[in-house]
Amino acid sequence: MKEAIVVGGGFSGAVIARELAEQGIKVLLLEKRDHIGGNAYDRYNSVGILTHLYGPHVFHTKRKHVFDYLSQFTQWREYEHRVVANVQGLLLPLPFNETSFEAVFGVDWTMGIVEKLRHTYGNTTTILELQKSKDSQFKQVAEYIYEHIFYHYTKKQWGLRPEELDSSITARVPISLSRDDRYFQDEYQCMPRLGYTELFNCMLDHPYISLELRVDGAQRIHIDKGALYFDNKPCRLPVVYTGAIDELFRFCYGQLPYRGVSLEFENISTEYFQSTGTVNYTMEEPFTRITEFKYLTGQNIPHITTIAREFSYAYRRGSEGEASYPIIREENWEIYQKYRLLADSCPNLYMLGRLAQYQYLNMDDVVDAALALGKELLAV
Ligand code: UDP
Repeated sequence: MKEAIVVGGGFSGAVIARELAEQGIKVLLLEKRDHIGGNAYDRYNSVGILTHLYGPHVFHTKRKHVFDYLSQFTQWREYEHRVVANVQGLLLPLPFNETSFEAVFGVDWTMGIVEKLRHTYGNTTTILELQKSKDSQFKQVAEYIYEHIFYHYTKKQWGLRPEELDSSITARVPISLSRDDRYFQDEYQCMPRLGYTELFNCMLDHPYISLELRVDGAQRIHIDKGALYFDNKPCRLPVVYTGAIDELFRFCYGQLPYRGVSLEFENISTEYFQSTGTVNYTMEEPFTRITEFKYLTGQNIPHITTIAREFSYAYRRGSEGEASYPIIREENWEIYQKYRLLADSCPNLYMLGRLAQYQYLNMDDVVDAALALGKELLAV
């Protein structure tokens, strides 16, 4: 193998491109937007605050090898993300934990109930699990948390109720039976010191990577009876595709649904707007959450701060915006599998990343998968 084509310049595409380039393979990297970094792209705004244009990205991982790998391209700033839910003005730490229990149910009641929950579930449980309990006290807790933390937020975020989605989605935010008020429990929690875009610049700065922006790779690839055509010519090079899988196959089985996120940025003349990096608005406000970027970046810029309100919507292909979240549920997975059969029929086509694999992957999952695919390709 001397050359390869990679479609998409987010984490999946950038890592696989670099991995191949390191082994002397010339990579043509095609990105349809006018920048690299995918949805992790960040940029300084007019008041000098580094903002995430497609929504907040907080890096966390349990995998040392992923952390070590990315450390080649960035220095880090330690950062433990904290999130509270704003429930009609009451601020409750998330994941819902012992402190949240006390704020809602009082100290005395909490002591007994948390002990009993721990005895039944260990250190964490999930809302959909807790709802199944027959215990009347557990039911009371489940009802409160479901209604005030999960129901409205999930309806806003996905247009669906929690139980209409795969249970792994709400399980991302467990019910914690400890005092740990960090949003993530992973060993490595940090932010690229100079931002994600800079990390991508370093990763793609390699003589064997040739990057073309504003090029829609999906439009240049055709698959016919398991054979791949690039610009209408037969192509036997390995092609790693990280865009939306349905787009690659011209929606022949219909559109796979995705949620999009629209952000409303605001600069406010104050030191800090809120008490934590993110506040989730878990009731009937039209937006899901507000993130204040100075917490994420650690920038010391006085008298001004930037926040972003996030609004979720049903993303439609061809309209403005970007696909952010695949909607993980049985009926969509069945459509995905049909596309996947088409992709797998082509021996030199590889699907990688959140959109191509139609999975709710975190940044570290994607890096891990790209490193694994790199090994697989190099072993061929
Ligand atoms: N969730 C919720 N209320 C919250 C936080 C999360 O209902 O306050 C649910 C919601 O369905 C959300 C999912 O849990 O989409 C996963 O949340 P996470 O914070 O991991 O979402 P992300 O940061 O990936 O958007």
